[in-house]
Amino acid sequence: MVNPSLLILAGDGIGPEVMTEVKKVIAWMGDKRGITFDVSEDLVGGCAYDQHGTPLHDDTMAKAQSVDAVLLGAVGGPKYDNLDFSVKPERGLLRLRKEMDLFSNLRPAQCFDALADFSSLKKDVVAGLDIMIVRELTSGVYFGEPRGIFTEGNERVGINTQRYTESEIARVARSAFELARKRGNKVCSMEKANVMESGILWREVVQEVHDKEYPDVELSHMYADNGAMQLVRRPKQFDVIVTDNLFGDLLSDAAAMLTGSLGMLPSASLGAPMANGRPKALYEPVHGSAPDIAGQGKANPIACVLSFAMALRYSFDLGDEAARLEQAVEKVLADGLRTADLMGPEGGTPISTSAMGDAIVAALDASL
Ligand code: NAD
Repeated sequence: MVNPSLLILAGDGIGPEVMTEVKKVIAWMGDKRGITFDVSEDLVGGCAYDQHGTPLHDDTMAKAQSVDAVLLGAVGGPKYDNLDFSVKPERGLLRLRKEMDLFSNLRPAQCFDALADFSSLKKDVVAGLDIMIVRELTSGVYFGEPRGIFTEGNERVGINTQRYTESEIARVARSAFELARKRGNKVCSMEKANVMESGILWREVVQEVHDKEYPDVELSHMYADNGAMQLVRRPKQFDVIVTDNLFGDLLSDAAAMLTGSLGMLPSASLGAPMANGRPKALYEPVHGSAPDIAGQGKANPIACVLSFAMALRYSFDLGDEAARLEQAVEKVLADGLRTADLMGPEGGTPISTSAMGDAIVAALDASL
């Protein structure tokens, strides 16, 4: 048996700090569960620019294409703010997403009981919340042509084009239905079919894919503006939400904040299956490089740890081990351990990034 391969791109700022804690979990999986990964590491973002003059070297891109999954920390920082647009740290990340054709972006919004007080919503609205937003990531209005700022008569006009092909809609719909089958078996598709032709096509194609391939999954449709309202009114009515790039950008940020800190939010971006059946995949925390706290041992590593849990589940079919890791995180929080970002108004003593990683590993030990 060949070990599954993992490319770690820790990046800039707190990226390497939170990734150090994930590496403890990866080592634990090898030592205690006999699940060994072939791990390689490389540079992305500002640190890659410092070394190579580009935020993503071609060799790194080639490695990312050849491994089973990529785990990324974060990129960027004030040092790179004035670089030319083409070599900004974020371009490295965008190149990865584009060349790996990662069209399906999974953003879970899960509320750990111990943190239910952190939400801006009432505790009973969010306690136990577990929803997944699937956002189309490689098409739609952020990519459609024509785009630009043009002159019309004596004034300027800004143009972006919302454009979706049937196959682009069908593949992200499939990804949502597949996910739903592993969860609560419900998909709600969101668009604006009432005012947008692309929304009409979206609704038709999602329905067709459902009827032909996933009739066992419960499907509903909702206008995205109502979806936004329902997300803050009664979020637990949803299981999987599938939506386009623009609406997904907004809805996933709103849903994420139902659960509290940025330091808790993982994500996965998946593409088409490779020859071995595993999808092209990039896992990363939602947060950035947090230059304001970088190098101080204050960063919360949980978002990155939970991103690795998503890798276990979606790339390596190790759902039980993913659940074990999620439960370890839940236990640490229930025990009252908190990094600084999770300190409530009542205060307390925060623990460091590495103490949080150690506590998660200890909780994993206790799970055996
Ligand atoms: P950010 O996510 O880095 O930070 C926003 C706030 O949240 C900061 O106060 C930060 O301290 C806090 N925070 C973020 N992650 C945390 C964690 N794990 N633990 C505790 N606190 C945490 O966003 P920003 O400040 O807007 O951007 C900083 C840099 O990161 C910029 O260069 C930006 O371009 C980049 N960025 C990168 C990504 C990415 O790599 N995917 C995403 C967003 C921003």
